[in-house]
Amino acid sequence: MKIFAAATAVITGAVIGTAALAEDVVVGVSWSNFQEERWKTDEAAIKAELDKHGATYISADAQSSSAKQLSDVESLIAQGATALIILAQDAQAIGPAVQAAADEGIPVVGYDRLIEDPRAFYLTFDNVEVGRMQARAVFEAAPTGRYVMIKGSPTDPNADFLRGGQQEILQAAIDAGDIEIVGEAYTDGWLPANAQRNMEQILTATDNGVDAVVASNDGTAGGVVAALTAQGMDGIPVSGQDGDHAALNRVAKGTQTVSVWKDARDLGRSAARIAVSLADGTQMTGIQDSELWKSPGGTELNAVFLEPLPITKDNLSAVVDAQWITQEALCQGV
Ligand code: BGC
Repeated sequence: MKIFAAATAVITGAVIGTAALAEDVVVGVSWSNFQEERWKTDEAAIKAELDKHGATYISADAQSSSAKQLSDVESLIAQGATALIILAQDAQAIGPAVQAAADEGIPVVGYDRLIEDPRAFYLTFDNVEVGRMQARAVFEAAPTGRYVMIKGSPTDPNADFLRGGQQEILQAAIDAGDIEIVGEAYTDGWLPANAQRNMEQILTATDNGVDAVVASNDGTAGGVVAALTAQGMDGIPVSGQDGDHAALNRVAKGTQTVSVWKDARDLGRSAARIAVSLADGTQMTGIQDSELWKSPGGTELNAVFLEPLPITKDNLSAVVDAQWITQEALCQGV
């Protein structure tokens, strides 16, 4: 075990308290909606990496409540967290939690979702690019027609980053009159049931006049496909993201066109390293790869963006080769 020297360090904006040994680091992870499949993968990666460094993992799940998330963070701090990783339920409402951490000199990693505060280290995938990849795959399958845009949670900045990337790809075809957006809805809490209900309403309003759906993640894609199936319309192009096992099976079956895969194992591992580095005052790895990034709201943060990969029927082997899913699990839906 490497022994880190005690030091106080400042990493552009993120003030790090007096250094501790990695063994003394307690990383508190505040999840927003742990019921979703992908976060369990992220958690396993965070835990494994913290274990490697002898650091301790504690966590809480806000169960989609921004109020509970604030008390969760307070409780993680009270339990002795020396670094926090926060998957924010609501980008606005999380502010007091970052303040509470800063008051105690506890560094914060904004995990996957932007926390608009220069004191939070931002670690995510390139979400605008995820949106482009989603729209590109759907557009290749449906170069003309009536489109529906099923967006993410309105309290998650990723929803609009994705939507922005999607629009970039579709804009020229919209301008040319090849594509028409006939329905668009945010999905409260990213819940599949809400996506299904929104899709049902859009199908009713358009008299089933829909040719393609750009859905912003695999959970919402599941809701969309359920609504389409009820109308005998499954098989029209639908996007998603996360590489959820159910979604990869839909891709294999042909009821979902693409799942943009973000290897959550990489994100989790990086977050653990960054949290330990910030807490113990060393620059282990991860941080030196960061860039100073300006958010659309004008906040400058230290940020790391990982690269997503679109998975379609043509490259499903990529997720099997990466041991993300076994061939047996992949065939279940076929
Ligand atoms: C994440 C997605 C996830 C969604 C719902 C987004 O912020 O980037 O990977 O599917 O939240 O939890």
